[in-house]
Amino acid sequence: MEIHEYQAKEILEGFGVPVPPGGLAYSPEQAAYRAREIGGDRWVVKAQVHSGGRGKVGGIKLVSDEHEVEDAADELFGKRLVTHQTGPEGKAVYRVYVEGAVDIERELYLGFVLDRKSERIMVVASAAGGMEIEEIAAARPETIVRSVVEPAVGVQAFQCREIAFELGLDAALVPQLVNIILGCCKAFEELDATMVEINPLVVTGDGRVLALDAKMTFDDNALYRHPQISELRDKSQEDPRETQAADRGLNYVGLGGNIGCIVNGAGLAMATMDMIKLAGGEPANFLDIGGGATPERVAKAFRLVQSDRKVEAILVNIFAGINRCDWVAEGIIQALEKAPVEVPLVVRLAGTHVEQGRKILAGSGLPLIHAATLAEAADRVVTAWRNSQGASVRAVMS
Ligand code: GDP
Ligand code: MN
Repeated sequence: MEIHEYQAKEILEGFGVPVPPGGLAYSPEQAAYRAREIGGDRWVVKAQVHSGGRGKVGGIKLVSDEHEVEDAADELFGKRLVTHQTGPEGKAVYRVYVEGAVDIERELYLGFVLDRKSERIMVVASAAGGMEIEEIAAARPETIVRSVVEPAVGVQAFQCREIAFELGLDAALVPQLVNIILGCCKAFEELDATMVEINPLVVTGDGRVLALDAKMTFDDNALYRHPQISELRDKSQEDPRETQAADRGLNYVGLGGNIGCIVNGAGLAMATMDMIKLAGGEPANFLDIGGGATPERVAKAFRLVQSDRKVEAILVNIFAGINRCDWVAEGIIQALEKAPVEVPLVVRLAGTHVEQGRKILAGSGLPLIHAATLAEAADRVVTAWRNSQGASVRAVMS
C-alpha cells in the first residue's frame, strides 16, 4: 500500500527525521490559511498524489505570497496529474500540502528497499539527489552507495557514518544524517514497510539536513498489524478495479489489454497471460481467484471483470486440484444468470471432476466456447475476440 508524502513525513518525523514545517489543505482558502500558520514569506504548494515526478509536471509550486499560495492550490485542485509513474489517465489531486520553503544547498538521495538477493533491508544513497533513482542509476551510477542492514543487529551507526562520508557530507553534518538513517530503518522495520525514499534529502544554507520529499510503501500482508497505517489508505489514488478486487478478497492487477482473465492460482494466472500474448492478444488483467474458487468467488470475479469496460472477451481457466470442476461450472452458471456476458467467453476446465463440469456447462445452453488445453483456450479467446471486432459484439453472442 502507498501513502501520501505528507503522511510519510508525519510518520518519519515521529522517528526523528526532520522535515520542514507544513500543513495539509483541502481547499485553496485552507492552503492560504496554512501558509499564514507556517509563517515566513516563501512556501511550496505540493500536489498530494501517489506518484513521484510531480515537480516535472507542475505539481510542485514555489510561491512567495499568500495570494500565490491560493492561486497555486486553485490550479492544482481537481487536476489530474500525469507523471511518468501514473499512466496516461493520471491521478486526481484532492489534497495539497503547503510547506515553508527551504533554502537548498545540496540535494541528496536516500532510499531503503528490500533487497531480494541478500534478503535484507538495503540502504541506497547518492550525492545526485533530486533526480529519480532510475535516472541516477543510468546517468551517474558511480554516485550510488549501497549498504546492507544485518537483521540480527540492525543498522549500525558506523555504517551510517560510512554512507555520510561516501556522500561527501561535511563532518559537522554527519550526526544529523546518522540520526535520519537510524530513524528511517526503525520506521521501516517497525511498520513493515517495503520502501522508504527521501528524495531529495537536502542540506540547507543554515546547516540542517531535512527530508524535503518522502515516500513510503507498506507490505499489504502485514497491514493487519498496523491499523494506524491501513487508515491512511486513499482509494482515490488507486485503480478502481484493483480497489474493488481487494475489497472482495481477490488478487487483481489491472492491465491495458482487452481480454479479461479469470484464473485460479497465481502461477496459472501468469501462464495464462503469457499464452494470450503468444496467441496475439493482450490481457486486460491478472486475476487469481484463489484455490477455493467457490461459486460465490467465481461470481464475484465475473462481476469484477465485466465491470471493466475495456474487456472485449473473457477467458476462464480453472485447474481444479482441491477444487472440483462441477462446482466451478455451477459458479459460472450462477454468475451468468445474474449478469449475462455480452462478449465472447471461453472456458477451459481441467482436473478433478472435469467431465461432470463440462457436462454441466454443455447442458446449460449458455453461449460459451469450450477449450480443452491452455494453448487452445488462448487461441480461441483471441480468435473469438478478433471475430467479434468486425460484427456487433451482441449480435455474435445472441
Ligand atoms: P517530486 O517531483 O514528486 O519528487 O516532488 P519533490 O517533493 O521531490 O519536489 C521536486 C523538487 O522541487 C525538489 O527536488 C526540489 O528541487 C524542489 N523543491 C521542493 N521543495 C522545495 C523547497 O522548499 N525549496 C526549494 N527551493 N525547492 C524545493
Ligand atoms: Mn521527490
